[in-house]
Amino acid sequence: PVLTSPLHIAVVGGGIGGLAAALATARAGHRVTLVERAARFGEIGAGLQLAPNASLALDELGVLPAVRASAVAPPRLVMMDALTGDEVTSLDLRSSAYTDRFAHPYLVTHRTDLHAALLTACQEHPAVTLRTGHTVAEADQDGSGVHLHFAEGHAPLTADAVVAADGLHSRLRQVLVGDGEPVCSRYVAFRGALPTGKMTGRMSQHAASEAVMVWTGPRMHLVQYPVRRGELYNQVAVFESDHYTPDSDDWGTEAELEERFAGACRAVRDALPLVSRDRRWPLYDRAPISTWVHGRIALLGDAAHPMLQYLAQGACQALEDAVALGQALGRSADPAEAFAAYADRRRERATLIQINARRFGEICHLEGMGATLRNMLLSSRGPEAFDDISWVWTPTPAPAPAL
Ligand code: FAD
Repeated sequence: PVLTSPLHIAVVGGGIGGLAAALATARAGHRVTLVERAARFGEIGAGLQLAPNASLALDELGVLPAVRASAVAPPRLVMMDALTGDEVTSLDLRSSAYTDRFAHPYLVTHRTDLHAALLTACQEHPAVTLRTGHTVAEADQDGSGVHLHFAEGHAPLTADAVVAADGLHSRLRQVLVGDGEPVCSRYVAFRGALPTGKMTGRMSQHAASEAVMVWTGPRMHLVQYPVRRGELYNQVAVFESDHYTPDSDDWGTEAELEERFAGACRAVRDALPLVSRDRRWPLYDRAPISTWVHGRIALLGDAAHPMLQYLAQGACQALEDAVALGQALGRSADPAEAFAAYADRRRERATLIQINARRFGEICHLEGMGATLRNMLLSSRGPEAFDDISWVWTPTPAPAPAL
């Protein structure tokens, strides 16, 4: 749409959420300056699952073909029992039940591939300016705009409005919402993608199947799937530490990883030495909040709704945020009005997913009788039973245009 008075919007953070927000805002007819604190744009070397709500969002942002070029469309999502090695349940992503319900594909991608597709689209858009090495330290606003101040001492940036997409530890959320530190789940992830050829023997069968494999066990699980045209295989091992201490990083160690997975089935134990140990990721979320908008500043992505990864929806929700933001800014060039419409559309759904991500984690990590009951219940469902997950994979429709 051509707006009579395009705004200048600053986006803080150049992760998946920030880049998508910048792109959506520019495509809505506004001018964007995105500031990122890192010296270079980038993402970590691991995979990301993109449910059909995310591939719909990528389509709406015009980058789905670029993402699809390197992503894999897995045929199945499979839940395995990590102790017995038995299949618990699966969903058939190539069935007509899937295609009847979801118009867009379920994809798995390397994070850097998705990030690069969004970055290229931003670089190619004439209305987007990208700046690295800019760490937002403070923001002050008045009736006419927002001034961002940078830790590096760069000149302040003035914009009509600001989108804070600065992640889990958002500085702007800290200032505006003040809800303290993120909540640590005491779980930790070790993850990374390796050349698929390194998955040998029995492990190569799972890799060749191209399915998303989720091996669930007592207070631990392993996720595996191919990325980058199948050339790389992503593995994420997650477990609860018994040694969590809030003030130190000396918990959730490699030794604990080995110990927690020692009782797993052969397939999981064979895969474990190939799980990347370069870095460990303590897993955090926050309680939902309703205050996403503060005057001319709106929160987006993990800054607004950081969630545990058990529904694989954090980035998917950030992409949905970006599309909703773009649509709201396409309808109104009044930042307060557009931000209110964006938050109204997104808050309830993101909150529900945040809450259910915690619950699904608890279900995954059950032990003893709880795990037996879970397996019994889930194994009674067929591979075309999308009823329970379809609300997660289906975004709230955009409101009808005003007449
Ligand atoms: P971030 O990626 O954190 O980006 C924030 C950006 O802001 C960064 O580039 C940072 O450098 C920058 N920044 C921070 N502070 C400042 C500042 N003061 N000034 C300027 N810049 C700043 N999601 C899925 O959808 N599917 C999955 O399969 C999935 N798997 C996951 C597995 C694990 C183990 C984990 C931990 C998460 C997973 N997620 C998944 C969640 C997903 O990774 C996040 O929700 C998503 O990356 C959030 O993107 P973001 O852009 O909001 O935040």
